Amino acid sequence: MDYDTYGSTAVELAIELANTERSDPEWARAFLASHDEWFTPGTSLELSPGETSRAAATADLVRAVALAESQADVLDRLNELLALARPRPYATDHDGELHLHYARPDAPALEQLTTTVAMGLSQVVVQHGWQRLGVCAAESCDDVYVDTSRNASRRYCSNTCASRSTVAAYRARQKTE
Ligand SMILES: [Zn+2]
Ligand SMILES: [Zn+2]
Repeated sequence: MDYDTYGSTAVELAIELANTERSDPEWARAFLASHDEWFTPGTSLELSPGETSRAAATADLVRAVALAESQADVLDRLNELLALARPRPYATDHDGELHLHYARPDAPALEQLTTTVAMGLSQVVVQHGWQRLGVCAAESCDDVYVDTSRNASRRYCSNTCASRSTVAAYRARQKTE
């Protein structure tokens, strides 16, 4: 796994964070627990209420980057997100492959999260273009996505939304025939 591959995977973490439902006050802790492979083993995944609201601000910024409609807006929002990051490259082979992490291994969970998310998202935007991020075209879904397909043709957050929309369009067509 090279830095680029790691970045492409890290952007998925950013997208999942942005799409996480936050009505439960413990949402951030649950998110960290279900993505614990991203944190140095032994990192405490407990978050204070203050840290939880900072995680929410990070999630909002990722979403704002995905919703931005001009390169200037993307840059503003991306830089706001990057200002929360504390990058310090760290070489590791924890999964058997030599690769770099963006955050120092002994950083608190929130710092590891914010740094990984901000750097992963930025790297994909810078390398593949800001148009690669978008919001799901399905009715009743406003999840954001990153499009890593070769021809940049993605419009839905998931296969579920894509097939649901295809079925809905088919039914709508049948009704009018
Ligand atoms: Zn790793
Ligand atoms: Zn969707």
